[in-house]
Amino acid sequence: PPLYKQRYEFVKDLVRKYKPKKVADLGCADCTLLWMLKFCNCVEVLAGLDICAAVMKEKMHRLTPLPADYLEPSERSLTVTLHQGSVAHKDPCMLGFDLVTCIELIEHLQESELEKFPEVVFGFMAPSMVVISTPNSEFNTLLPGVTVFRHPDHKFEWDRAQFQSWAQDTAQRYDYSVEFTGVGNPPTGMEDVGFCTQIGVFVRKYPQTRELVQCEKPTEAAYKTVFKAVY
Ligand code: SAM
Repeated sequence: PPLYKQRYEFVKDLVRKYKPKKVADLGCADCTLLWMLKFCNCVEVLAGLDICAAVMKEKMHRLTPLPADYLEPSERSLTVTLHQGSVAHKDPCMLGFDLVTCIELIEHLQESELEKFPEVVFGFMAPSMVVISTPNSEFNTLLPGVTVFRHPDHKFEWDRAQFQSWAQDTAQRYDYSVEFTGVGNPPTGMEDVGFCTQIGVFVRKYPQTRELVQCEKPTEAAYKTVFKAVY
């Protein structure tokens, strides 16, 4: 299967395994991953965030309930919400999630956004689990035609050591543990380059301490809601 599908399947497998009720996808683009997660019965709240409203709207209709969803309502409730905004900003609508996914997002962030990202995701949202995927630049020599980056909008592409040191620093600062894996196997004989896509799975070490934080000044809304469906 194509690489993007392998990434989505990776997340879907995690959802099946850990059964999070509330999942947020940051940099959700055309909402394909959210649409796939809609079919996981454990999920009761799905939220998407992207800086680009136009890309979210492209296939947004797929998130609208179908007649069958009303004719044969299921036991579980499901709410799907899409927000326009940046992962460099905090918004209370992103609090209380069990799983936050950032698939091929961080390499699109400007330096100033990447600096704020850990505090927003790990410090503020503080979900039990965070999944971050990004290209492994060591694999690029195997990709025909890739001279600098795989995509012109990439601000950087990290090798495994760079991603892992950033991830480990971040995990340590916010009391998470992190494990590394990936998707897209290298061809036989080239195993040294690692996966095409590198993935960090972060797990929060201690139970939520958010109550403490909420005693501080409440955070004002920074995102704009562009879609909401209640099943
Ligand atoms: N996660 C999707 C996937 O795996 O197919 C899309 C990944 S796409 C390569 C990166 C997405 O991140 C784009 O839709 C882009 O608009 C979004 N993005 C870039 N900067 C962002 C920011 N600061 N905050 C939120 N989303 C951002």
